[in-house]
Amino acid sequence: MARTVYILGSGQDGGLPQFGSRMAQDVAARIDPLAVRLGPSICVLDDDGRCFLIDVSPDIKEQESRLLRLPAYAARKPGNPFDGVLLTHAHMGHYVGLAHFGREAANTRALPVNCTEKMAAFLRDNAPWDQLVSLANVELQVSPGRQAGGVIPAGSPGLPAGAVVRTIPVPHRGEYTDTIGVSINEDVLYVPDIDDWRKWPAARDEIGKHRVCILDGTFFSRDELPGRDLNEISHPFIEDTIEFFAQEAKSRRIILTHFNHSNPVCDPASPQARRVIDAGFELAQEMMAISL
Ligand SMILES: [Zn+2]
Ligand SMILES: [Zn+2]
Repeated sequence: MARTVYILGSGQDGGLPQFGSRMAQDVAARIDPLAVRLGPSICVLDDDGRCFLIDVSPDIKEQESRLLRLPAYAARKPGNPFDGVLLTHAHMGHYVGLAHFGREAANTRALPVNCTEKMAAFLRDNAPWDQLVSLANVELQVSPGRQAGGVIPAGSPGLPAGAVVRTIPVPHRGEYTDTIGVSINEDVLYVPDIDDWRKWPAARDEIGKHRVCILDGTFFSRDELPGRDLNEISHPFIEDTIEFFAQEAKSRRIILTHFNHSNPVCDPASPQARRVIDAGFELAQEMMAISL
């Protein structure tokens, strides 16, 4: 059976165009659909239509429309739009699409949502998310393997059949919850948000273990953020990342994603995008497919 990872959104939490921005690239993306980048999310789609979603972005409606253009997904029977979900953390781009799971919209039935204990408590204890739990639109799945990081037990509800899904704690600004990265079959690694590669002791070890790594590429360089205190920026810069992982990039695919609307690599024709490609890295594109 074929199993494919799709990048459903390669933008940072606010996507491109970003609401409220009049920057040139936002103005351009409002008229050019090919320039649009949706909120950060990936999925694992089996050719029998089973689909496991990682993060629920505010653009989930458009992401579902894109998935429906794929015959495997379109052949799903009516019911829950996904078999299972995993949430990395409670920043806006990664979970607020859950609002569409509730009774005003999809009204999903007992959809398994995997997350850490802190993320589960956040959803259980705060309106409006608590209603998804009390009305059983979602069924929170928290187990030892999902708390401090570890393998989610095989056969857990909603997981792709036979897949090994491992969560990995990563350092990231955490006002409400902790943050995890995800390994699928020890083959594809997804870390969309991290403060700094140097603050993650397992960084080299984890990247070294995976064939394909889809990593935080939020900002290109310090120049992108004039007047901002660098201590407030909870993401690495691409120009540092391509140096830091130069060795690792020689023997595996490293795909950068989660681009802020200000990031010049959003334009594949930019010199900055060329620099990333020349360094042996890849830039995520919308609906990019990676075979598992
Ligand atoms: Zn994010
Ligand atoms: Zn974040």
